[in-house]
Amino acid sequence: MKQLLPYLALYRRHSIRLLLGIVLAVVTLLASIGLLTLSGWFLAAASLAGFAGLYSFNYMLPAAGVRGAAIIRTAGRYFERLVSHDGTFRVLQHLRVTTFTRLLPLTPGRLYRFQQGDLLNRLVADVDTLDHLYLRVISPLVGALCVVLVVMVGLSWLDVPLALTLGLILLLTLLALPPLFYRLGYPVGVALTQQRSAWRSLLMRWLQGMAELRIYGIEPDYRQKLDKVEQQWQATQQQQSRLSASSQAGLLLISGLTVTLILWLSAGGVGSTLSPGAAIALFVFCCLAAFEALAPVANAFQYLGQVIASAERISEITQQQPGVRFAGDRQQSAQQVSLTLQQVSFSYENATFPALQQVSLQLRAGEKLALIGRTGSGKSTLLQLITRAWDPQQGEITLNDYPLASWQEHALRKMTTVVSQRVHLFSATLRDNLLLAAPGASDSQLVSALQQVGLEKLLADPQGLHAWLGDGGRQLSGGERRRLGIARALLHDGALWLLDEPTEGLDAHTEQQILHLLHQVTHDKSVIMVTHRLQGIENMDRIGVMDGGQLVELGSHEALMAKGGRYSDFQQRFTL
Ligand code: ATP
Ligand code: MG
Repeated sequence: MKQLLPYLALYRRHSIRLLLGIVLAVVTLLASIGLLTLSGWFLAAASLAGFAGLYSFNYMLPAAGVRGAAIIRTAGRYFERLVSHDGTFRVLQHLRVTTFTRLLPLTPGRLYRFQQGDLLNRLVADVDTLDHLYLRVISPLVGALCVVLVVMVGLSWLDVPLALTLGLILLLTLLALPPLFYRLGYPVGVALTQQRSAWRSLLMRWLQGMAELRIYGIEPDYRQKLDKVEQQWQATQQQQSRLSASSQAGLLLISGLTVTLILWLSAGGVGSTLSPGAAIALFVFCCLAAFEALAPVANAFQYLGQVIASAERISEITQQQPGVRFAGDRQQSAQQVSLTLQQVSFSYENATFPALQQVSLQLRAGEKLALIGRTGSGKSTLLQLITRAWDPQQGEITLNDYPLASWQEHALRKMTTVVSQRVHLFSATLRDNLLLAAPGASDSQLVSALQQVGLEKLLADPQGLHAWLGDGGRQLSGGERRRLGIARALLHDGALWLLDEPTEGLDAHTEQQILHLLHQVTHDKSVIMVTHRLQGIENMDRIGVMDGGQLVELGSHEALMAKGGRYSDFQQRFTL
């Protein structure tokens, strides 16, 4: 259970609310026990008084007590729910923000370990499950303990042996049932958490890959797989319900036996009274009510397995160490950027071959470099190292002669404009999708950027910049997506442009226009452009050819042409 310690520490922040919730829960429980006990005694005493023909029976006081207890119970339950849920939601909010804050610096390198659906599940469902810890475990347990003590002490005013007997049975039940049901429920809880996650991940993949699955005709197979996991999940849920039912049945049995015992013991009289009287009803109803207070405890411990499994899954995220730390102190971004790579080598985790080997390169301020090379030769990796998605294992990268690690993150982001190979479209408005590159940009700047990249037709939508893109909204074609990426780059406009195949998927005419635009807007910028297309490459100052993670050729277009070699091969293959 030590996995829960960090989460218990979180409760300290909202301890006052949570303690108040427990106090209110105890008051409510005691009020309901008081209500049942008093009513039982009151009815029995009133009827006995009637039979005996007593007219001096004071019914005002007990009736007021019953009413008072009923009001306290209702009001107590209302405020207990209000306060304890408010406290729990605050804890969950804090936990969710903490988990997300830990997640952010992991992006993107470490996050590849988690499947998308799984990550979402951890962030939403697992965090939600942790609300059981307070609401279903801690609060009922403390409440039940208080009830046992109060019942024992309260009843001992009337009859010590009876009170002790009932108290001991309650205490033993409270000590025995939770560990028993914790043991029985733990594997079920863990399985439930894992199956829920597996089902959601599978469902997400099924939905996302629907087009491919249908094309290849394997959608029914996949659906079957999903159904199978769902059935297993439901079977485990059933198992948990059965456990829950048996815990309640067990408790009911113990409660029934105890009531019989108390009835038998109290039949000989309660306290100093030796004849049976209304106090029998008081003890019996008190016993029934006290067992009701114990009911949530046995259930609670079944959920503990689920809570522990969820806590472990969240800890797997929060305990990850970011692969890249921005601890530098250079805050001032520069208007002109020069870049050097010295003997840079990099391997992805668990990769057999290095993605980059001893790459050395110098880019003067304002210089433009085209990077070409076969697929998988490490071009995108090189750009990602410059944006610090990962740090190289060997060698050094400097910006304006300062190591990359010495720049603060916001300065580095401000200086670099990136069009990545896969432009991500956020499920948000067109405006928001553009603003992320330049949060302060005006609507007219956004419109102008769209017009520059030839995406003005997106503005033809009646909602204009407020039209929804991505999930649930307008989908963009590959070429449109890419141009949206370039519009973002125009808005961001840093001093170093890193373009990963910016014209891939565009027709020859649009490609020409985009290359022309890029040439214009980057005339005083430093540029590295990865490309497979050799159109317009002669406008670049130098060309680097990559192969197997190495930079095998570097020079001007003319020099490389004159030299022959791999660049000429490319030239022949790609230039029509
Ligand atoms: P392309 O022209 O197809 O875009 P590229 O030159 O950009 O190729 P990279 O994406 O840099 O190639 O990949 C270089 C090598 O590293 C490839 O062998 C690739 O499989 C591998 N690789 C890329 N990304 C990862 C990753 N996240 N984890 C492990 N290996 C990776
Ligand atoms: Mg690439």
